[in-house]
Amino acid sequence: MDIQENISLKEYTTFRIGGRARFFAHVRNTADLENATAFARQKKLPILVLGGGSNILVADEGFAGLVLRMEIMDVVINGNKDGKTIVSAGAGVEWDGFVAGTVRHGLHGLENLSLIPGTVGAAPVQNIGAYGAEVKNAIEWVEALDYETGVVRRFSNRECNFAYRTSFFKTPAGKKYVIIRVGFALAKHGELATSYRDIADYIKINNIAQAEITLQKVRDIVIDIRTKKLPNLAEYGTAGSFFKNPIIAKSEYEKLLNEYPMMPHYPAGEDKVKIPAAWVLDNLCGFKGYREGDVGVYKNQALVLVNFGNAASSEIKNLAQKMIDAVQEKTNIILEREVEYV
Ligand SMILES: Cc1cc2nc3c(=O)[nH]c(=O)nc-3n(C[C@H](O)[C@H](O)[C@H](O)COP(=O)(O)OP(=O)(O)OC[C@H]3O[C@@H](n4cnc5c(N)ncnc54)[C@H](O)[C@@H]3O)c2cc1C
Repeated sequence: MDIQENISLKEYTTFRIGGRARFFAHVRNTADLENATAFARQKKLPILVLGGGSNILVADEGFAGLVLRMEIMDVVINGNKDGKTIVSAGAGVEWDGFVAGTVRHGLHGLENLSLIPGTVGAAPVQNIGAYGAEVKNAIEWVEALDYETGVVRRFSNRECNFAYRTSFFKTPAGKKYVIIRVGFALAKHGELATSYRDIADYIKINNIAQAEITLQKVRDIVIDIRTKKLPNLAEYGTAGSFFKNPIIAKSEYEKLLNEYPMMPHYPAGEDKVKIPAAWVLDNLCGFKGYREGDVGVYKNQALVLVNFGNAASSEIKNLAQKMIDAVQEKTNIILEREVEYV
């Protein structure tokens, strides 16, 4: 396989920001993966696993190691288990194309996760979620290579340790695994999840009859909502939501309510609530539509940072820190990043 040198990473991320990778490999099959990781071991290089680059911010200095661009593309139906169809997909398969295929085949489970950018291999890493669904509920197993030892291992759903926007693969022990393919358990018949507020409102406003709400219709609704709310990647550089929604103690939330009676919340387990960070950034800190030169906050979503042209990585980081500080000053909440700094 061909290992390239000094490749600009800007073109490989949706933020369209970042310096060069010292080494870069297109990984199209397991042999490529084994060769590339052996090269990194021999040269003692750090590894960055890259999918669609839609959840990372690469430093202006670039990456002084080997980038593995995951391009393993197989999709296979692996039979049935407990009444569900097991479908596996290679790490490099484009996520939304895969979701479209499952919906076309009448398989339930991924429809609410339509139009999320990126690849299948990255979906388990932060347990992607949207519109009331999380990918953890459809994952059967994850096959990954330990790049320190070269050993391939299959993780069960439980072993992935999924939680809100995180998993084992985000921990220091999990970082040495390159996800090769993911197995999904999808139902031929299933309940459609339409109770999430944005979807329920859409159905009501557009007068959609219950009988019209099919699997494909749910996908279409999610796509329509997302297209209106989120920036078009062809037009803006962005990595989507920059911060996670903070989860705080109910008692903390009650104190905040005295000061901000309109602050929304969602239940998040015993004695905990989730606060929509976008509401805080917009209503308490006034960041929606904020702009400084080529960096700013998207006009329709205060969680989304945008590169309007030639922004540097450092400028995005400075704006993110400014937002963290403003939220802390108003609420004492410390926002956690969803986007990973490389
Ligand atoms: C407009 C927009 C909207 C978005 N909306 C959502 C949303 O609704 N919900 C949501 O959860 N996310 C959302 N995201 C974030 C992003 O789409 C997801 O996190 C997606 O899964 C990232 O996929 P990727 O292939 O681009 O990963 P990358 O950005 O390339 O990588 C992300 C992380 O995963 C690791 N990684 C990637 N592939 C592998 C692999 N094969 N093995 C091991 N590690 C790997 C990388 O090292 C990195 O740490 C959005 C992003 C954008 C730009």
